[in-house]
Amino acid sequence: MKLSIKTGIIYSLSCLAVLLLVLYPSLDAPYGHILRILVIFGVAWLIYFYFTSLGQFNNTKVDSSNGNDTSQYAIFPKPHVDELFQEIQSMVFSIVQSLNDSYQPEVFLFEDQFDTLVRQKDSKSSLSDTILTNNLLINTILTSTGPQTIYQKDCGAEWDEIFGDKTWRGSECFLANPIRFNDKSIGLFIIYIDHFNALDNKSLIITSQLSSLLTKNLENLDSLDHQALGNYKKESILTFISNLNFQDAETDIYRQFSSLVNKFVPSDQIIISSATSFFTQGVIMWSKGDDPNYIEGKKFNLNESLLGLPMMVNGGINDDILLKKFPTFIPASGDGDSMINHSVVGLLLKIGEEKLISVILERKSKRKFSLKERDSIKSFFQILSTIMNWQQEYQQIYLNATQDGLTGLLNHKTFMDRFDEEIQRAKRFNHDLVMLMFDLDKFKRINDTLGHPYGDYVIQTVSQILKDNVRLIDAVARYGGEEFVIILVNTNIDMAMPVATRIVQNIAEYPFSMDEKDVKMTISCGMSEYPTHSENIREVIDYADQAMYSGKKLGGNSVTVFESNN
Ligand code: GH3
Ligand code: MG
Ligand code: MG
Repeated sequence: MKLSIKTGIIYSLSCLAVLLLVLYPSLDAPYGHILRILVIFGVAWLIYFYFTSLGQFNNTKVDSSNGNDTSQYAIFPKPHVDELFQEIQSMVFSIVQSLNDSYQPEVFLFEDQFDTLVRQKDSKSSLSDTILTNNLLINTILTSTGPQTIYQKDCGAEWDEIFGDKTWRGSECFLANPIRFNDKSIGLFIIYIDHFNALDNKSLIITSQLSSLLTKNLENLDSLDHQALGNYKKESILTFISNLNFQDAETDIYRQFSSLVNKFVPSDQIIISSATSFFTQGVIMWSKGDDPNYIEGKKFNLNESLLGLPMMVNGGINDDILLKKFPTFIPASGDGDSMINHSVVGLLLKIGEEKLISVILERKSKRKFSLKERDSIKSFFQILSTIMNWQQEYQQIYLNATQDGLTGLLNHKTFMDRFDEEIQRAKRFNHDLVMLMFDLDKFKRINDTLGHPYGDYVIQTVSQILKDNVRLIDAVARYGGEEFVIILVNTNIDMAMPVATRIVQNIAEYPFSMDEKDVKMTISCGMSEYPTHSENIREVIDYADQAMYSGKKLGGNSVTVFESNN
């Protein structure tokens, strides 16, 4: 603890007084009295100082009950964002489960004391509802900075303290990350896995990204509370965020957010633009209002347009700045008077590490933006930049978790989930679905003769051809090494036949070429139809597979429809 100057002076004076009293114990009045009073006052001050310091360091005290140094821990001050936190948590959980159904994600937080962590989800779980932190394992995780993988077989009693005293097979493990808030641990993000075989490198990376997403969100949520906005505005923003779908496109979020801002601070035009590379040009991403000059996708030179001004001045702009420094940028709309009537607020937002967004709000009436309105706009859009940071990060992790790394197609797991959804939809609307299964013919020879990188190039090119030949609503996935699947929604075999034939033909005709080595490839395709051939998802896949193999047996490069007798 640090002594203030005042405390230091009083401390030194009382020490001196004690020393003098030791040297001259029977000093007469008035000096003796003065010294005694000084000593009493000094001791009283020191006691006071000691207790106030203790108060200040209350959070960092060493918890004597379990011997933990709790100075690394904190309790997340969940303000009125509890619901929102649940929301983000379920978003994170759904990504975890899209990695692998057998992953069981859990979040534990300190609620009011540092010796117990409390499970945050109501649902049933094989994990206990609370975990004591005097467990050596938990303690290590809480004070670590990165992800940890812990195997049941390497643990003793600590494991049972966390998961209960059951008969363990020894294959169980869990991934754990501390959840950090302002550089302190406020809880744990745990993924319990029944068998360590289900663990792979990609999952490890993604779960660690997810826990950083959780952590960031906590900080963002807390910063929301410090925005200079009234309670009603805050509540509206929180409702807005909880209704937001982070899978929405960027422009969808701008549209929804602009409507929210307009409810509180009306304007005639809101234009959101981003800078293109090299910071010379900008492009309009979103525009609300009826000025025909502002169309989405329109490009402009940053230093010649009002829209680029926040980027050029590296900050916000308002009417005063505009009038004084940049009169040529005052928006004009025909008659001379209108310029004076215009009022403008411009902001610069940073999204992620590199993206810069400029926001311009215009009012074309006599009522100019007031200082209070400008502050509100600023606070609102700071929140937008937080939201966009979230969205970008979420989408990145989501894509990483659901896409195949080599081809960018859906991965096997995501495809199965998607197929299930499509079947439910087809049931509801009484639609047909067609399943196409593809396998490259004699692909192994490519790897064997031209090398693995050439094989990868072929797989990537074929993926692109598949994507190019179907609609956006159809699902294209990498089913395995050189096997692909497509679900054509609301389609029957007759409609699917030309699509499949075109794909097979396009691949056979494609001039594959890399490192000056040319090659020709063919692919075999099998088709089955839901619900005609089967209503069971596994059977629909098996039937397409069988059809594909029967075509391959006859030489490949063909489309074969499943028949119950082939
Ligand atoms: P068939 O005509 O019967 O389909 O014969 P094939 O050679 O195509 O079939 P097989 O299943 O025996 O070979 C598939 C090969 O694909 C084996 C595997 O090494 C290779 N493979 C799987 N994934 C990848 C990958 O990501 N990149 C590369 N380059 N090769 C891969
Ligand atoms: Mg093959
Ligand atoms: Mg194969």
